[in-house]
Amino acid sequence: MSLTVLMNAGPWLSVPPPGYGGIENVIATLVPELRRLGVRVVLASVDSSTLPVDEQVSVFADGQFAALQRPYNQVCGIAQAHLAGVVRELHSRDDIDLVHDHVEAVGLATLAAMGPAGPPTLHTLHWDLAKHPALYGALDGGDRVRVNGVSASQLARAPLALREHSVGHVHLSTPLAVDAERRPRADKGEHLLILGRINPGKGQDVGARLAHRVGVPLVLAGPVGPYHRPADLAAAGDEARQNPDVRFFLDEVAPHVDGDLVRWVGTVAGQERDDLLASARASLFPLRWEEPGGTAVVESLALGTPVVATARGCLPELIEHGRTGLLTTDEEELDDLVLSAELLDPDECRRVAAQRFTPAVMAQRYVELYERVRQGVSAP
Ligand code: UDP
Repeated sequence: MSLTVLMNAGPWLSVPPPGYGGIENVIATLVPELRRLGVRVVLASVDSSTLPVDEQVSVFADGQFAALQRPYNQVCGIAQAHLAGVVRELHSRDDIDLVHDHVEAVGLATLAAMGPAGPPTLHTLHWDLAKHPALYGALDGGDRVRVNGVSASQLARAPLALREHSVGHVHLSTPLAVDAERRPRADKGEHLLILGRINPGKGQDVGARLAHRVGVPLVLAGPVGPYHRPADLAAAGDEARQNPDVRFFLDEVAPHVDGDLVRWVGTVAGQERDDLLASARASLFPLRWEEPGGTAVVESLALGTPVVATARGCLPELIEHGRTGLLTTDEEELDDLVLSAELLDPDECRRVAAQRFTPAVMAQRYVELYERVRQGVSAP
């Protein structure tokens, strides 16, 4: 296939990410499969990215994850300027056929602003769509930028202006889903796991209170704002409270973290993360937001760990109630579901992941969408 895609991973983290990093994980999963299908990939990312690609262009020397706290707009502005220069240059030389953008505040704004002169673009929506109405408004009238969701439910909730530009949805994937059904079964422990950013939408406070009520150990893994380790947060002092996720953690979650029944272990990565997930009796998602894509949900299935969750966002698309997890619309029912999760078959979770959520399935779907975007935008 002769197709060159500029993949915009943005300024926040290297690809693959050092630990936490939803978007960067998706790109690290997708790119090798695309290249296997013959797609040439130019990666726009920070210099520390190590993902093998055909060409890499720099949007920043180092990951700017810590700047998510402050000064966000400044970082986005610099990254936008870099990206606009790169896209113009490559597009003017006919060196790219398509931009696949993953970073709304940087890539989407840049590409929407380029208007008809810009290359055909597919922007993947990763987030809660209510977040940046102004940005998505920038799509109005433009016909070069198309969007895809990471779940049908995410697109269904999107504003009309966005849905008009949509070419469909592609579920997230994980390399863990490759050969998942053939991997030896992991020994299960007692603990529940919530894997993800500590954030009100992810509901770690609900999970922590639940753990104390039902007397089941709970491990919270993930960063609190820009802090990856409990020691870093402790050392940051009062200034850390400027971050809303830090305030949420300190006020709503930390009072239930006793270091015994409920533990916060910080960001986990690599084998440690996989072991924690594979040995959990269930992964818990006591969501308060409409989860758009749920990488951690798919990872959990791939490692043979059933999911107990509130039925919000993409969860009903990813989880088959009674087969790979237990879902409820009533938060209070989660206590019972957690205790029933051990009735679910870990092998069935892995089988489903190996069929539905492999990187090859995701890449094939993106190649289809790339074609649709290229045909759609080149029409007179
Ligand atoms: N993650 C991780 N270590 C952590 C917490 C999260 O590696 O301590 C990874 C997790 O495995 C998943 C990603 O970060 O791949 C989070 O993506 P998800 O779609 O679940 O949530 P998001 O943060 O994008 O809403």
